[in-house]
Amino acid sequence: MQNNPNTTLITATAPVATGTHGGRAKCLQRLVRLDLPVPRTVALSFSAVHDIAQGQLPDIAAIVGQFEPTALLCVRPSSEDPDWGGPGAVLNIGMNDARFVELSDRMGAEAAAALYLRFVQTFAIHVARLDPDVFDEIEADGREGLRQSLRAYEDETDENFPQDPGEQLAAVLRSMARAWEGTSARLLRQAKGAPADAGLGLVVQEMIPGLGQGECGSGVLQLVEPATGLPQITGRYLSQSQGRDALGAGAEALYLEKDPRGVSLEDVAPEAFAALKQHAALMREKLREEMQVEFVIESGRVHILDGVRVPRSARAALRIAVRLAEDGIIPQQEAVMRIDPHSVNELLHRQVHPQAKRDVLTTGIAASPGAATGKIVFTAAEAQASAARGEPCVLVRRETSPEDVRGMHAAVAVLTERGGMTSHAAVIGRGLGLPCIVGASDMEFQTKARMIKAPDGRVFRTGDILTIDGSSGQVLAGEPEMMEAALDDSFQTLMAWADAERDIGIRANADTPADAQAARNFDAQGIGLCRTEHMFFEPGRLTVMREMIFAATPSGRKAVLERLLPMQREDFVQLFRIMEGKPVCIRLFDPPLHEFLPTTRSGQRELAEALDLPVSDVTRRVEAMSEYNPMLGLRGVRLGVTVPEIYDMQARAIFEATLEASRKGEPVVPEVMIPLVSAKREVELVKARIDAVAAAVASERGQEFDYRLGVMVETPRACLRADEIAACASFLSFGTNDLTQMTYGLSRDDAGRFMSAYVRQGVFPEDPFHVLDREGVGELLKLGVERGRRGQPGVTVSVCGEHGGNPESIAFCRAAGFDYVSCSPFRVPVARLAAAQLAI
Ligand code: PEP
Ligand code: MG
Repeated sequence: MQNNPNTTLITATAPVATGTHGGRAKCLQRLVRLDLPVPRTVALSFSAVHDIAQGQLPDIAAIVGQFEPTALLCVRPSSEDPDWGGPGAVLNIGMNDARFVELSDRMGAEAAAALYLRFVQTFAIHVARLDPDVFDEIEADGREGLRQSLRAYEDETDENFPQDPGEQLAAVLRSMARAWEGTSARLLRQAKGAPADAGLGLVVQEMIPGLGQGECGSGVLQLVEPATGLPQITGRYLSQSQGRDALGAGAEALYLEKDPRGVSLEDVAPEAFAALKQHAALMREKLREEMQVEFVIESGRVHILDGVRVPRSARAALRIAVRLAEDGIIPQQEAVMRIDPHSVNELLHRQVHPQAKRDVLTTGIAASPGAATGKIVFTAAEAQASAARGEPCVLVRRETSPEDVRGMHAAVAVLTERGGMTSHAAVIGRGLGLPCIVGASDMEFQTKARMIKAPDGRVFRTGDILTIDGSSGQVLAGEPEMMEAALDDSFQTLMAWADAERDIGIRANADTPADAQAARNFDAQGIGLCRTEHMFFEPGRLTVMREMIFAATPSGRKAVLERLLPMQREDFVQLFRIMEGKPVCIRLFDPPLHEFLPTTRSGQRELAEALDLPVSDVTRRVEAMSEYNPMLGLRGVRLGVTVPEIYDMQARAIFEATLEASRKGEPVVPEVMIPLVSAKREVELVKARIDAVAAAVASERGQEFDYRLGVMVETPRACLRADEIAACASFLSFGTNDLTQMTYGLSRDDAGRFMSAYVRQGVFPEDPFHVLDREGVGELLKLGVERGRRGQPGVTVSVCGEHGGNPESIAFCRAAGFDYVSCSPFRVPVARLAAAQLAI
């Protein structure tokens, strides 16, 4: 039979491969090659199993002939990837009345009956497809349980229980092969990424019973703790048991290593335990992986039945990879490749514990990862009050606006009804590292009435406890158990290895000193985007800002801006100091001015008081400034052209801060960026004024300094005209949020309402605000880079939209020749790892 690759006795040299016989068969061959005590095993290939499903059995007698005539057999699935699942194992094939009598003499009647009973019931349910209820009535075990089970089988099938081992094996193989080809199994594995034609192999293995005289039993052992990845022998062992019984709920399993809490395998069978530990260490070293060892002890002797990768949490995966590399078992590069960059998110934030019970109310868009629990509040002011009382709160809004930023700072998490991946709440949430769910449109938001209603009718009001899982998008009732962030040594080590490979720069989008500090902590190479408008929402500044907006004349406006100047200057000094000479790219004011004005009646009344104006004036002004399409209206460079005093003030603040921060240490070279450009002339106009401010500051202070002026390319026209625009810029930073919005004509604030329907129906493969649309927006980027470099060879090109932190989008940016990407600080490690993997 060794010559038939479809049914192969597993030996060191047999032709067994993962792609033809499945992962379990291949792993067992590796264990055989290591001379481990693996019971005799025959592997059936994918094509053999496929033939069985079609009714074409292999030579069963030849398979049975590979084993001792008295052996019992088990059959287990062996798919290419263990995650794709497969039918359950069938144990004790070969048990029949005659074997029962023989084994009763050898191991005792109870043990023999237990073996037979297990086989009869498994066979009845999984092979003969009897209803499991048939056995519910049977309460007895041992011999009486066996007698009743055999009777139940015969009653239901009108046949005797099959006695011929070959016939039993054929029936088991047929039923497992057919189960794999069934529609529900196929759909299930396809959902886990299996191809439509994924094959199943089967392994037929001699059973080591685990029951009988002396120390007998079965269990699993691993050398690490699966949740943390820390070295620690973990697992379970159950005397007088088979298969994975030791893992069953309620099983009175023993500890493995000596343990003060109770009896261990080491106590009852010290030699077997020592051998087992040695085998496990050898498997780790030679299979280059932390393995879960499935074993049986038979009269004190160890047998290794199987080895599978230890199932693990994200943090355990990282620790395991780093320790394998540190122990010289795998190269560092391989350790870097083994970690899924998306999973790094789990390490940077608190998470709902994987084993915690989840009371899911609804699922929205997972806009900013991490989980937090708090009392519900419905306004920014309530959030601030709650924070002042030291009570963690979840800010619930229909959507957020700049007015809510202070409330977001005070909250532990944010939930909104509207919005998508680049809506206000999402962008700010990610920037702050604040768990955030947007677009939870299945919930009813009655924020005025201070209540939300879940789809199942449950109502939550101010003060009720909610948990936001921004990693999965689930809104949970109550307070599930949490798991803390894990930025430990292993994390730092892996990141350092990743940086050694990476060939595209990673900066952070950081608006405040706290953001900048987070960017440094995550080893960003600089700030790629500082959205300066966020600095105006600090308490005390908003009113001055509003005064500036209300100023009737340019000179009146200038006077108010002079009050904002020192505040801005101090912001920039802090940023420069924190970044210690790393580049800082400051974007000039971008949003429509009316975003700073109060929308509510009471807010307008307060502003009227502060400005000493009639409320009607304020209301009229707010109305006059509102736009139908503000994101396409008077914002970005359009403000720079029409209300130039704002940019003048910001430029002065940047340059004065430059000189201030350069006094100690290396000279700072700030990068000043103009947003929302669509025409070269806009850049020329703004550049002329900024150059003039720079010259004025240099002459007033008697000190020269350098700065770089760049353009944000975020309109389709700027991409098309990038050559002439780049001619007046030293860098181009592509704002893929606005560029996606304008390329699709899709509102970044409203698209959340129908995005899931669009993705579900395959209109978009993914949310284009989340994963860069290579075909459309990507074409514009490529064209923009190529034309930009044509207009100004050596111009620095980067992406600073939210896509900068998305692994798939980074792959595109690297291939398209971008110098760096910039993303929220908390996504920097994800980006560093993803970029390293692209370079390996
Ligand atoms: C962008 O549009 O991609 C961008 C980074 O700017 P913002 O998100 O502030 O509009
Ligand atoms: Mg933009």
